[in-house]
Amino acid sequence: MSRFAGYRLLACPSCQTVHAVANQVSFNLMSFESWTDGQKRHALMGSREGVRQCAQCEAMFLEREAKFVGHTRRCQRDDEVPYQIPDFLLRPAYETNWSWQGLRERLIKLGQWVLRGGLPSAAAGPAQSSEAAGSAVGAGESPKLDYPEFLYVPDSALASIIENPTHQSDPLMLALRKLYWRYLNDPYRDKARRFKAHGMDATVGFFPTELQTQNMRALLQLTYHYQPEDVVTLAELHRELGEFDIAVRLLKQCEADNEEANTIRDAAVSRVAAPLPVVYAWQTPNRSQVDCPRTP
Ligand SMILES: [Zn+2]
Repeated sequence: MSRFAGYRLLACPSCQTVHAVANQVSFNLMSFESWTDGQKRHALMGSREGVRQCAQCEAMFLEREAKFVGHTRRCQRDDEVPYQIPDFLLRPAYETNWSWQGLRERLIKLGQWVLRGGLPSAAAGPAQSSEAAGSAVGAGESPKLDYPEFLYVPDSALASIIENPTHQSDPLMLALRKLYWRYLNDPYRDKARRFKAHGMDATVGFFPTELQTQNMRALLQLTYHYQPEDVVTLAELHRELGEFDIAVRLLKQCEADNEEANTIRDAAVSRVAAPLPVVYAWQTPNRSQVDCPRTP
């Protein structure tokens, strides 16, 4: 069961537009189907590897690259929490150093802004005249603007984003290529389900296309560089590329109860390259033990 408690306000690193993102208090990671490449089907929560797109300027970034602006109970702009920060006070995430000239300009702007009565708490505070309050509340049409949500980057858009990179950072490209990897494996998944329904094994028919191979190679390189601790993903990529011994070697550092690692290792030892559903302990019914007895 997923529950939500309030929202985080996150600003786009490019245009500073503030978006509302629901806080998850508890959520269910159980999904009906989970695969060795990390694809989940019918999962309640899909993180999309943190890939987000601004609803205003359509810039793409990782959620951790967005600027945290504050918390709010509702995703409406009339919330009691004052968070309206003028654009010129917000520093772009990629701006690493301040120049004296820039600082001076900002201070001048800040001074002008305060002179115009721009202090946030003064404007929103209770000391307003009853007239002003009445016109805002009494009219019954005070604007309740919702914060936008980040746009969803669909799988079908990944190819053109990856092939025509504009200013994507390497960590963002890693996330995009991971999503693309799973997406390109989806046709095989459909085939495997059809074969399974007929009691057949589809794994011998897994042959990555040149596009898949190229994406997996690029993803391997990015993962080794930026997430070398993610040995399960590294091993799975090597396995799907047919490099079984490297996969087995990498997985030596995994805990014995790591079910993803165990599934990948067993497949690599059996020289199977196809993506496979991971069967977790809590998912193991007697039926599947009868269907697929584990050979020692
Ligand atoms: Zn933006």
